[in-house]
Amino acid sequence: MIDFGEPLEVLHRVFGHAGFRGLQEEVVRHLVNGGSGLVLMPTGGGKSLCFQVPALCRPGLGVVVSPLIALMEDQVAALRQQDVPAAALHSELAPDEARAVWRSLDAGQLKLLYVSPERLTSEGTLARLDEMRIALFAIDEAHCVSQWGHHFRPEYRALPVLAERFPRVPRLALTATADQRTVLDIQRQLGLEQSPLFRASFDRPNIHIAASPREQERAQLRRFIKGASDGTGAGLIYCGTRRKAEQTADWLRQDGQDSLVFHAGLDPAEKREAHRRFARGDAVVMAATIAFGMGIDRPDVRYVAHTDLPRSPESWYQEIGRAGRDGLPAQALLLYGAGDIALARHRIGESAAPEEQKRVERQRLEAMVAIAEAAACRRQILLHCFGEAAQEPCGNCDICKTPPRLFDGTVAAQKLLSAVLRTGRRFGLGHVVDVLQGKMTPKITQFGHDQLPTFGVGRDLSETAWRGVARQLVAQGALDVAIDNHGELLPTDAARPILKGEQQVMLREELVLPGAMGRGALRGRPAEEGNTDPCFLALRDWRRRTALAQGVPAYVIFQDRTLAEIAALRPMDQSALSTVPGVGTTKLERYGAAVLEITRSCAG
Ligand code: ADP
Ligand code: ZN
Repeated sequence: MIDFGEPLEVLHRVFGHAGFRGLQEEVVRHLVNGGSGLVLMPTGGGKSLCFQVPALCRPGLGVVVSPLIALMEDQVAALRQQDVPAAALHSELAPDEARAVWRSLDAGQLKLLYVSPERLTSEGTLARLDEMRIALFAIDEAHCVSQWGHHFRPEYRALPVLAERFPRVPRLALTATADQRTVLDIQRQLGLEQSPLFRASFDRPNIHIAASPREQERAQLRRFIKGASDGTGAGLIYCGTRRKAEQTADWLRQDGQDSLVFHAGLDPAEKREAHRRFARGDAVVMAATIAFGMGIDRPDVRYVAHTDLPRSPESWYQEIGRAGRDGLPAQALLLYGAGDIALARHRIGESAAPEEQKRVERQRLEAMVAIAEAAACRRQILLHCFGEAAQEPCGNCDICKTPPRLFDGTVAAQKLLSAVLRTGRRFGLGHVVDVLQGKMTPKITQFGHDQLPTFGVGRDLSETAWRGVARQLVAQGALDVAIDNHGELLPTDAARPILKGEQQVMLREELVLPGAMGRGALRGRPAEEGNTDPCFLALRDWRRRTALAQGVPAYVIFQDRTLAEIAALRPMDQSALSTVPGVGTTKLERYGAAVLEITRSCAG
């Protein structure tokens, strides 16, 4: 067994990392000295090390509460790769497996125990833990204790017992949800009011973000995936409904992708299988509802797309944050339509929730719309939602890369609004555009709409352009779309000053002007070639075989980033190899010879 010691040494030796990132060092030091606290870090920020390192530095057992079995299993597999004695205890273990875990616990052979909340808080488990020396409790995905959030887990409700029963054992709660209310809830329930809150920056600069109106969803997704995947990493496509997730997965499969589906309607075995395949597949793409979230531990998710408008910047950020945890470039694309915006507004309006909650939800939604229709750096707007002021535009979003041009679209807006009013607010966009473009359709003849003064006044713009105008008017709140009926357009009070010429409407040019459409979808990122270095490919192939033989995800052997650095360095001996970040002592012992054989043959 490894002889554990000082935090920095443990970080080098066990995890093979050169140094702590951001707040990690502060949190680790605090825990090692016996303190408790709450860590707020974006997904991929490096939360695991905040409790893994102190658990190894302190005497006794580190107990990690985790809500998802697949996640526990993968973390345990990764720790064992580093020779850390770790195990998981949950309801899906066979009785003899659980007994074996208990035996090693009783023998004092484990340093980290991952346990489901219901197992941990059962009297039997608590009584046995009373007898042991506990290094710390880590409560992962701590927002699950809060009923305020969307991820409440009833099993988390029993966790306050930890503070009562083990008052002297440090407790570290961790979450990527920055919402103030949730934070207060976690602190209250887990008895952390007097303990420090470690709040990391939520910026994830390696994720390129882009948003685009949904024009031809599948073509847009196809281009996005092609540009974003590098042949190994995984991808996620979030869909608004179960049905759409199913359809998208089917279509992706027909399109030649290794695709999976996940939503809350699957039975537990199907869910586990989807998780397992997602964790292990190369270049796998998952079409899912937001039910697929926790437990995505893969560091090499290369892209996340949304085919429907997320309900808040918080949800969106959490979802896209699943990309690029390894720090390598990753891509996020949001596709949205005017219908989404209107539908979401209606849902809030009609929900039975208390007024206060509706108000909060409305604010979140409007913030999301502002990001989607942004005319300035999207990341600045996004970080602002998390209370962070970014001074400079980020340089890594579609807007920064190709700033949109604005033009005075007041006249176009007036034409559209007036066509809506003159047709009697009874028609959807299709018919209104036909009127504007002066088309003699049967419906136009039937209603005599060719007699209207607005008939044919919009021939200067294409149909797509008119859709762009309509969407931006919806986004700006001047136009509403009737959801329960047939999508009739309804001008709001905000339309009046526009019609009277008292208010100017600025529109984004490429979303409206003829000929400029379509290039908005995926600008800014030339399809990047994957790493084609033969040494890297040989290493990757070796890793795939090794992972397969051990039945673990490829990244627990070595992450892509580590393989890329090994390939670039082409080390000739163990000491050179050991300088590569991600190559700790244990991995050097286990895999050093095999890796060196490959790098040596590449040099020859
Ligand atoms: P989180 O749980 O916050 O989403 P993880 O703990 O899974 O994030 O860490 C994300 C990725 O960052 C992992 O691939 C991990 O190996 C890497 N990582 C974390 N801390 C460091 C560090 N100090 N140096 C290098 N890589 C790190
Ligand atoms: Zn930007």
